[in-house]
Parts: sequence; C-alpha cells; structure tokens
Amino acid sequence: MTVILGAGITGLSVAYHLKEKNRDFIIVEKEKTPGGLCRNLDINCYTFNYTGHFLHCKTPYVRNLARKLIGDIKTIKRNSYVYLNKRIIPYPIQSNRRYLSYGSRIKTFLSYLLRNKEKPENLEEWFVHNFGREMHNIFFLPYNEKLWKYTLKEISPDFLKSYIPKDSYVYSEKTGEYNAEFLYPEKGIGTLVSSIAKDIEISHGEVDRVEKDFIYFDGEKIEYENLISTIPLPELLKMLYINGEKFGSEKVNLIWNSVLCINMGIKGKLSFGNSIKVFKKNNLDPSEFHWIYFPEKKFPFYRIGSLSNISHSLAPENRSSIWVEVSYRENKPDKSIVDDVIKNLEQIGLLKREAIEHISQVDIPYAYPIYYKDCENIVQEIRNFLKKYNITLAGRFGDWKYSYMEESILEGKKVALELCR
Ligand SMILES: Cc1cc2nc3c(=O)[nH]c(=O)nc-3n(C[C@H](O)[C@H](O)[C@H](O)COP(=O)(O)OP(=O)(O)OC[C@H]3O[C@@H](n4cnc5c(N)ncnc54)[C@H](O)[C@@H]3O)c2cc1C
Repeated sequence: MTVILGAGITGLSVAYHLKEKNRDFIIVEKEKTPGGLCRNLDINCYTFNYTGHFLHCKTPYVRNLARKLIGDIKTIKRNSYVYLNKRIIPYPIQSNRRYLSYGSRIKTFLSYLLRNKEKPENLEEWFVHNFGREMHNIFFLPYNEKLWKYTLKEISPDFLKSYIPKDSYVYSEKTGEYNAEFLYPEKGIGTLVSSIAKDIEISHGEVDRVEKDFIYFDGEKIEYENLISTIPLPELLKMLYINGEKFGSEKVNLIWNSVLCINMGIKGKLSFGNSIKVFKKNNLDPSEFHWIYFPEKKFPFYRIGSLSNISHSLAPENRSSIWVEVSYRENKPDKSIVDDVIKNLEQIGLLKREAIEHISQVDIPYAYPIYYKDCENIVQEIRNFLKKYNITLAGRFGDWKYSYMEESILEGKKVALELCR
C-alpha cells in the first residue's frame, strides 16, 4: 500500500493522480480540512488565505486542470507595487526607475552600468551583479533581509533566479516574469484544493511515528510499501525511527523562516494618504493593488496585499480586506505587533483604526526554506538515505525547496506516475 503523509496540494496531487490510475492509497492529514497552506479561511463573512496564494502557470497541464476542476477561475494581470520614500512605485522596481526620485534614478542607473560582472557566489553578490549596488541598497538588501531574516552573503543565489524579473531599463512586458499574471478562483484558492480533494478519502490524524514499513497516528498502525512524505522534513526526521533508534532532526542543519500573517476586514474602500505619491501604470489603479512590497526598515512587515481587490466576492459589499506579512525566525512577534502594523498602515493613509471591523492572525511556522550554502547537498543525502526505506520526499517543506503550487501539482503527478510504473 502507498501511504501519503499530508493532504496539502502536493499530497492531494499524488492522491488525485493515483486515483486516476485506479491505484489504492491512504492519505493522512492532521488538520480537519485538506489543502495545507492553500486553504481558505472563512471568518466573519471575509475569506482570507495564508497570505496570498496565486496560481502562476507555466504549463498547459496545470492551467487546464485548474479550468477542468473549477470553471470560474480567472486570469488576472498583476497589479503590484513597491512602497519607497513615500512613493507607490509599480513593481518590478528595477524596470520602473523612472518613478524614483531624480537623484535615485541617476545613482541606480550609474551603478547598474558600473556593476560587477564577476560570477556571483551568494545572494547579495547576485543582486549587485544583476541590478547594481544602488538598487541593491535601496530595495533588494533591505527587503530580502526583512523577508529571510538571514544574511544574504550566506544564501546561495541559484534558487531565486527564475522568480526575479530581469532588469530592463526600458520595461518590456515580454520579460517572461513568472508572476506577471496568475489564475485565481472567484471564491478563493481554497476552492482549487477542495476540488482536487473532492473524491479523495482522507484519514484525519496526526502522524507521530514513522518506522521502516509502518506509520503510526492516533493509536493506529498502518503498513506501507511506499511512503510519500509531504510534511515538513524536520518534523519527519523527529518522528523517524530506524532499527528502533530515533533519527532526530538535530544532525541535519535545516534552516527556515516563519511568517505571521495578520488579516483585516475594513469598512469602505482602500486608498492612500495625500502625502503619498502614487504612480499609475498601464491603466491600473494603484488603490486596487494586489500586493505591495515594503523594503524600508521602519515597517515591521515586508509585504501587504488585498484579496478583496483580487476578487470582490472575498469581502462583504463596501468592505475591503488586507493581509500583512511579518517574517520571523527564532522569536515570534509579540502582541504589540498588531498595534505597530495598524499605526504604520494609518501613517500611509491606507486605513483608519476605527474602520477595522475584523482582525485575526495566522501563524505559518514553515514559510520559506533557506538555501544556505551546502543545504542542497545535505537534503540530497537525506533523500538518498530515505529512498533505501521506500520513503520519497515531496512538496515545498517535505522535499525542502522553494517551490510554488504549480510545481507541487506537477511533482505530485510525477510521484504518482513513478509509483504506477
Ligand atoms: C507566505 C507564502 C506565500 C505563498 N504564496 C504562493 C503563491 O502566491 N503562489 C504559489 O503558487 N505558491 C505560493 N506559496 C507556496 C505554496 O504554499 C506551496 O508551494 C504549497 O502550498 C506546498 O504544498 P505542500 O503540500 O507541499 O505543503 P503544505 O501545504 O505545507 O502541506 C503539508 C500538509 O501536511 C500536513 N501535516 C503536517 N504534519 C503532519 C503530521 N504529523 N501528520 C499528518 N499531517 C501532517 C499539514 O497539515 C499540511 O496539510 C506560498 C507559500 C508561503 C509560505
């Protein structure tokens, strides 16, 4: 029997594709509802997600699957910005220098021309190499330090390459960016995972021990021939026993960050204060923003976004919603973070405290795996070791990679087809 640990989008995709081939499996999920990070959170007539989750499709397979599963999935053109020095600048900033102050435009341009052309060895060098020192200093360094909570000099650059738009002094729509447009269901991303999960029987319970040939959850013991694990790798290693001995996660140096997502429901429409310079591009309305990056240190968050701007049916009439992303590693922000966030949003005129009618928090303990040097070799060793026990790792935290939903669906399909061979 094939056993799948975790009914997030990766585990569900393995199950969906095994079911298509009439293969038996058991899928175990600790939460009451499937979907992992791609679930909807329906609270007080608002629908929130785990921050924002948009389906970026490079492949016709995933696009067609999404359309087959939910007819009402729309293609949406990105409307996102960077907030810098009281300016709302269209994203990507490296292709929109003309909206920077005059001095900053000259500095970023000159340092782009004079940038170091040597092969970059780490993330900091990669940003400087591609965008110039000044653009690095005003955007990439502060933004990425805030997001990763790790020194960029220790992070390997290779994993990010396909996610960051190339510098083009004259912006071209044809830069092949991975997120220039995306698919999003009218009723939230959770409808995609619930459609995948529709005909799949899920066993609910928290797996707490994995041995050669057996897994345990809620007092049950299940035998497996093949185990597909999509639960976070450090959690799997903590509960793994080989020949009666606990494997543990201490020997394996895996580093990641966590994200605290603050969701708000707000009366009225969103707009910016008069002191903020707002730059419009391509006829897109900045107050209808999808998300905004905040590199400056004074803001405790690195990004905010609005789901109600993406699909109006995710908030009641004449209401708006905002999500706010705060990254952390060891120490989760304390209660004062909410007040701090509200004060900052008030300062840019985005909302008034009295207009907030709902506020809640979602903690994402595993958010971004950090690719420090050697990380890939270490994960490869674990993969090879576990393969000997018929354990396959899959998914963003299961297989420890910076991946997105489309990749999870494709990876689930690949794993299922390999099992059917
Ligand atoms: C902040 C953030 C924003 C993102 N934005 C996007 C985006 O816009 N677009 C995009 O494509 N991707 C985005 N992603 C990436 C996307 O979330 C992942 O690629 C995808 O959700 C990974 O799915 P998964 O099934 O591998 O993992 P998960 O969703 O983490 O699923 C793992 C499942 O295992 C279960 N589980 C854990 N432990 C146990 C246990 N002991 N027993 C049983 N079950 C267990 C969990 O409950 C969960 O359901 C984002 C990620 C983050 C963190």
